[in-house]
Amino acid sequence: MTTKYTSIEDLLACDRFHTDEKHPHIVVDSRRCAACTSRPCLTSCPAHLYTQDLQDGSLHFDHLGCLECGTCRFVCAVMGKQGIIQWSYPKRTSGVQYRYG
Ligand code: SF4
Repeated sequence: MTTKYTSIEDLLACDRFHTDEKHPHIVVDSRRCAACTSRPCLTSCPAHLYTQDLQDGSLHFDHLGCLECGTCRFVCAVMGKQGIIQWSYPKRTSGVQYRYG
C-alpha cells in the first residue's frame, strides 16, 4: 500500500516525540529575551514553538514538538541576542524520531 502525503504538515504528523518534560533541551532566558527587538525565533522555527503574547509582548516557548533542527539557536545568535537560547540535543532515547524524511 502506498500512502500519499500532500503537505509538510502531513509528513510532520508522522513523526514521534519522546519528550523529556523534566529536562528541556532548549532553555530560553526570558529576562534577556524581553530586550530583544528582532525576535527571529518567532518566524524561523518550522514547528512554530515560539509565540508572542499579544497583550504584553512576552515570548513563550514550549520544547514539546521540537524538530531539533537548530534554527532557533542559529538565528538567535546571529540576529538576536547571543546567549538567550541554551540549546543542546535531548538526552539519549529522548527527542524526535523522524518517520518520513
Ligand atoms: Fe524550532 Fe528547530 Fe529550535 Fe526546535 S530546534 S525550537 S524546531 S527552530
